[in-house]
Amino acid sequence: MNFISTRGGETVSGAQAIAQGIAKSGGLFVPEQFPEVSREELEEMLGMSYAERAAAVLHKYLDEYDYGELKSACEKAYAQFEEGDPAPLVKIDSSLYILELFHGPTCAFKDMALTLLPYLLRKGCDLTGVKEQVLILVATSGDTGKAALEGFKNAEGVKIMVFYPNDGVSKMQKLQMSTQEGDNVNVVAVRSNFDDCQTAVKTIFTSETCKEELKEKGYILSSANSINFGRLAPQIAYYFSAYLDLVSSDQISMGDKVNFAVPTGNFGNILAAYYAKRMGLPVGKLVCASNKNNILTDFIKTGVYDKRREFYKTMSPSMDILISSNLERLLFELSGRNTERTKLRMEKLAFDGVFEIYDEEKEALNELFAADFCGEDETVETIYEFFEEYQYPMDTHTACAMYAAGNYMAANKKDAAPMVVVSTASPYKFPQDVMYALTGNDIKDSFKAIKHMNIATAMKVPKSLSKLRDKPVRFTAVADKDKLYGEVLKFIDKK
Ligand SMILES: *Cc1c(COP(=O)(O)O)cnc(C)c1O
Repeated sequence: MNFISTRGGETVSGAQAIAQGIAKSGGLFVPEQFPEVSREELEEMLGMSYAERAAAVLHKYLDEYDYGELKSACEKAYAQFEEGDPAPLVKIDSSLYILELFHGPTCAFKDMALTLLPYLLRKGCDLTGVKEQVLILVATSGDTGKAALEGFKNAEGVKIMVFYPNDGVSKMQKLQMSTQEGDNVNVVAVRSNFDDCQTAVKTIFTSETCKEELKEKGYILSSANSINFGRLAPQIAYYFSAYLDLVSSDQISMGDKVNFAVPTGNFGNILAAYYAKRMGLPVGKLVCASNKNNILTDFIKTGVYDKRREFYKTMSPSMDILISSNLERLLFELSGRNTERTKLRMEKLAFDGVFEIYDEEKEALNELFAADFCGEDETVETIYEFFEEYQYPMDTHTACAMYAAGNYMAANKKDAAPMVVVSTASPYKFPQDVMYALTGNDIKDSFKAIKHMNIATAMKVPKSLSKLRDKPVRFTAVADKDKLYGEVLKFIDKK
């Protein structure tokens, strides 16, 4: 299948789209058309393992990848998860389920894609004849960085460099990244917020001067952010898998609609749900949940995307984002795949900080999506109340989606479709905030908070987090946001 740029002018293979990461114009690669999954194919997938389901979905888009190889790559990727199903569905009652996506090596849903991306990228480079080393630059609001570092550490022919906002990630996230092992990795804190990190990295990606200079040094750039289709594709798979699990456990019949509520930042996770729907999965409403940074809620309710507003640091830092990159892919679809219109809107956002969609686009948007946001107090209350009622501890991001899902269900009693809340991180990844929510206690030390949470909830502590305590810190560099390219050169010139 071919891929085209949301801003026009480029048609490439899937392998090329993944190797390159982002289109030359700054646009994002999208499939030329959505591949269909028929009812028969869905029925066939019922009997498959998670890895097999993932390979089947991926192969629909990446048909130049060998299916058998893709399948064994999926099996290897998901073997790194805790034992059992990598994406288990927890039943709360017959109308509410939680899809747990945090059982991977770094305890956030980013592992669902980033354990597989190294294979997709290496293969993509092989298929397109790339000879250079691949330099991966990542801007992270906390979880992508760690998951990408783990996925690519010591990968042959790859170097990876991660930038995170110095004051914008949780203590645990910072510790996870600064103690990263591997000979080919580098981590730099940036004196700014996530949006500036993302914009700075995108600027390097689209600068011909940077690209030429790096090429002379023997490197091509690629991205592990969700602007890369190789990140998005594995995420589509878990929506299929969750649906199939509901069917095979007789919770629903094949063909029944299911709603999903997704804690949203860069719009990658929820966009994957939309892609699943476009492929034929019976998805009902998609509830887009934001935190106090509620720019997406406003956009879905009004049709105006306006980033000229205050940026808040919250206890769900992976959603502290004002420029939601993957929205561009949805705007492209809403506009009837109008590349000119999409390009103009993205330029308007960059220059004026605001754009607006047409009425008929907004209608289509509201048919697909509902939206809500969850403030800091509501996050705390949701974690506390849900644990009181169901003894189920959830992290701060998942709480935003649970809150939005609750509001949606209360306001739409006629919508009888079951709701699946997508859980994006282990509560142990944000132990102080979750313990504050559960007990009202402010525990200064992350590991003490983990211990107390383990006693309070009896939930198993992920080894990858408890191990951090004894790991040496390797990365302490802090840079200004306009000095990131200099840091890149320092890293690759270092012998
Ligand atoms: C990245 C992340 C999100 C936001 O996902 P997007 O795909 O960027 O919308 C939500 N929760 C957690 C825990 C995350 O790591």
